[in-house]
Amino acid sequence: QTVSSLPEQTRIITVSNQKGGVGKTTTTVNLASALARRGATVLVIDLDPQGNASTALGVMHRPEVTSVYDVLLGDSSLEDALQPTTDHERLFCVPSTINLAGAEIELVSLVAREQRLRTAVETFLRESDRTYHYVFIDCPPSLGLLTVNAFVAAQEVLIPIQCEYYALEGLSQLLGNIQLIQKHLNPTLRVSTIMLTMYDARTNLAQEVAHEVRAHFPTEVLNAVIPRSVRISEAPSYGQTVHAYDAASIGALAYLEAAAEIAERSPDGAESPEKAEAAG
Ligand code: ADP
Ligand code: MG
Repeated sequence: QTVSSLPEQTRIITVSNQKGGVGKTTTTVNLASALARRGATVLVIDLDPQGNASTALGVMHRPEVTSVYDVLLGDSSLEDALQPTTDHERLFCVPSTINLAGAEIELVSLVAREQRLRTAVETFLRESDRTYHYVFIDCPPSLGLLTVNAFVAAQEVLIPIQCEYYALEGLSQLLGNIQLIQKHLNPTLRVSTIMLTMYDARTNLAQEVAHEVRAHFPTEVLNAVIPRSVRISEAPSYGQTVHAYDAASIGALAYLEAAAEIAERSPDGAESPEKAEAAG
């Protein structure tokens, strides 16, 4: 446990990519779990109506459960919707339910419709008895109002990129949207981290994609790469993260490495003091 690399202020990280199936949810839950195992207290907010992050963390998300829907559209607080996880005593989840599927439309007519998650997160962090080191927000595969709420609530965006054909397709649209958010709603938002997922070292294609992404984003891309691994894809069907399911698997180790890198990076993009010291 590297308690020294816990952030002084809560880092709020939105995991986003409007493409489905690129590894957003897998990355959210396994990184969050890895950081909890390193000593951090971590909250995952499931903002996808499909509720895959809730499932992977073994958290109840039947329609009658108090969820992020009730936080965005009702009177519930994040604390009301918070659930512990069986994965780790320091890992918590605010689930999503299928009710959230209508939220994009229901939000349209509300006051401060883009700020609702931000307000809820700020209140929660201020009033909670616990100190949270990380909040991860798992986004749906769209750039609608739910994702806008996530961008407005966060300081950092983490973009998972699948090492496959068309990996970079849609990325300029995503970055363009983030620029709009920076301009109009959240000037301090920044793309802090890009993660290569589902990497298959045996294919030239994966290597080419990785090379291309690193050339475009030399500072954002993590050194750690998440391999394509059956253990990673099996874990959610047991309501587990890969760390609970098979802690020694290459997938679990890759997520631990990625977590260590993220923890070492300073939230504002400057070199962290320890790193600067180490470099002399
Ligand atoms: P998204 O949230 O972006 O839609 P998911 O995280 O749900 O993507 O991943 C899509 C599918 O790919 C899921 O079935 C998941 O289990 C699988 N998957 C994700 N990462 C890996 C990986 N590294 N190796 C193998 N399968 C993976
Ligand atoms: Mg998902």
